[in-house]
Amino acid sequence: MPRTPYIAANWKMNKTVAEAAEFVDALLPRIAATQNDVVICPPFTALSEVVQRRYGTAVKVAAQNMHEEESGAFTGEISAPMLVELDVEAVVLGHSERRQFFGETDEALARKVPAALAADLEPILCVGESEAARDGGETEEVLERQLQADLAGVEPTDLARVVIAYEPIWAIGTGRAATPEQAQEACAYIRDVIRLRGGVADDVRVLYGGSVKPASAAELLALPDVDGALVGGAALDPEDFAAIVEAAG
Ligand code: PEP
Repeated sequence: MPRTPYIAANWKMNKTVAEAAEFVDALLPRIAATQNDVVICPPFTALSEVVQRRYGTAVKVAAQNMHEEESGAFTGEISAPMLVELDVEAVVLGHSERRQFFGETDEALARKVPAALAADLEPILCVGESEAARDGGETEEVLERQLQADLAGVEPTDLARVVIAYEPIWAIGTGRAATPEQAQEACAYIRDVIRLRGGVADDVRVLYGGSVKPASAAELLALPDVDGALVGGAALDPEDFAAIVEAAG
C-alpha cells in the first residue's frame, strides 16, 4: 500500500491561543480536499483550541514534547495521558532544539517513544546530523546511533507506528534546505536502519524537515523515500502551509 503523505506544522514557541484559532480557521478551507495526513503541532497552551477547531476534519494535533512518566514530581512537564485527555493524537519527540537547548537525551527518548505508543499517541521522532558531522562524513553514523538508541524500547512490530523526521540541524531555520539528493539519501538510509531493526520499513513514514518552503516542497516531496515534511517557519502562515500540503499531491 502506498504511504499516505504526512505534512506537519511545527509552530515551536509561536502563536497565542487567538493566533492559533485564526490560523486554523484560515487553513481548513484551503486544505478541505486533501487526502494527506495534516498535523498541527501548537505550543501546549494552544493544543485545546486547535483540537476544538479541527473536529470534523482530517487534521490531527500533536504536542511538541512530553514526559515519559504518567504523573509525578516533574515540574513543568506534561504527560501522555494529559495529551490524550485533550484528544491530541501525536507528539514530536527529540526535536534538535530540545536536544540542543533542553538537554533531551537518547536515553530519555528511549523511554518517551514507547510511552507515547503505549498511550496511543503517534510519535514523530526527529533525528539528524550537525553541520560538523555532515562535513566529517558521519551523517549515517549519527542517524544510525540516534535511531538505534531512541527506538531501543520499541518492538519491531510497532516500528511502523512511529513517524520519523529526518531533520539535518544545519537546515533548520537557516533557509538552506538539504538538496533533493541529500534528503533522499538520508531518508532511504533511515528506512534501511528500520529494516535492519526488523520493522516493516516500507510502511514507515519518513519525513524531511529543514527550511521546507512552498517553492521547494514539490521537489522534496516527490522523492521516493520522502513521505512528507516537518515544517517550521513556513508553517506559521496558513497560505504557505496549505501550499506545502498541496505540493505533497
Ligand atoms: C522544524 O522546526 O522542525 C523545522 C524544520 O523548521 P524550519 O522549517 O523553519 O527549518
